Amino acid sequence: MKIFHQPKELQEYALNCKRSGKRIALVPTMGFLHAGHASLIDIARERGDEVIVSIFVNPTQFAPTEDLDKYPRDFENDCKLCEAHGATAVFAPQPEDMYASDRSIWVDETVLSKVLCGKSRPIHFRGVLTVVSKLFNLTLPDVAVFGKKDAQQAIIIKRMVRDLDFPVEIVLGDLIRDTDNVAMSSRNRYLTEDERVRARSISQSVFAAEAKLKSEGVKAVSEVIDDAVKRISNAGGVVDYVEVRDADNLEEPTSNSKELLFAVAAVFGTTRLIDNCFVKL
Ligand code: AMP
Repeated sequence: MKIFHQPKELQEYALNCKRSGKRIALVPTMGFLHAGHASLIDIARERGDEVIVSIFVNPTQFAPTEDLDKYPRDFENDCKLCEAHGATAVFAPQPEDMYASDRSIWVDETVLSKVLCGKSRPIHFRGVLTVVSKLFNLTLPDVAVFGKKDAQQAIIIKRMVRDLDFPVEIVLGDLIRDTDNVAMSSRNRYLTEDERVRARSISQSVFAAEAKLKSEGVKAVSEVIDDAVKRISNAGGVVDYVEVRDADNLEEPTSNSKELLFAVAAVFGTTRLIDNCFVKL
């Protein structure tokens, strides 16, 4: 497995792969990899000859008040996991090699990024779309794999690919949970033992909502939201949002909605956690 730190060296490698007719699959990550990331690498392995995993804690998607500096890192272990799952290259750049100090171009989205996580993280998706665009230009992927764990991110990236004509197929991997059903996340590392137990209320509310929305559809929306807010608040969590949206356009669901997204963000201690489910109607 090759390891690249310099963007231009990676791009040269990707160009050579393409010239020799290889299919490239990209898995963008921020590292501190777990089984959720591994499942995306497995999907990429099936779809590409070359599997490039990027490991980059992207500063432009963090607000100054957020956890950029304390975001967990373990490069050695990440490389082991990548290699074990068949990645052919890891790309781990330094921020100063990714961003010129006088950079002035952003990729932004103006509708889907205003709701859900976009409300409390107003610059987040601009940072994500800018770095993902750069990663697409550096790795020239035929396919890029993202997790449904970050449902809004996945939907916005699909929109970017559509609206800006990136020649990249976006594939989504299922949300992977730990044995206690808490959605796997690098940020789970921040939780105390007690917070971790209480954070189970999030996945419990997701499962309850999923069952109810499956059987009753859009008319159950306010009931499942109330139920989730109660469960999470009773467990000591501070709810950022609990919402049900049309999974196609993130608008309020209607009787014409074909798929719903039930999405939760809540804070336990100092840790903001997200979870969700998609429900086909
Ligand atoms: P991150 O390193 O948190 O930025 O995540 C990198 C990619 O892994 C994103 O596409 C995430 O949606 C995905 N991912 C993170 N956690 C999970 C999970 N528990 N299950 C599936 N995909 C995940």
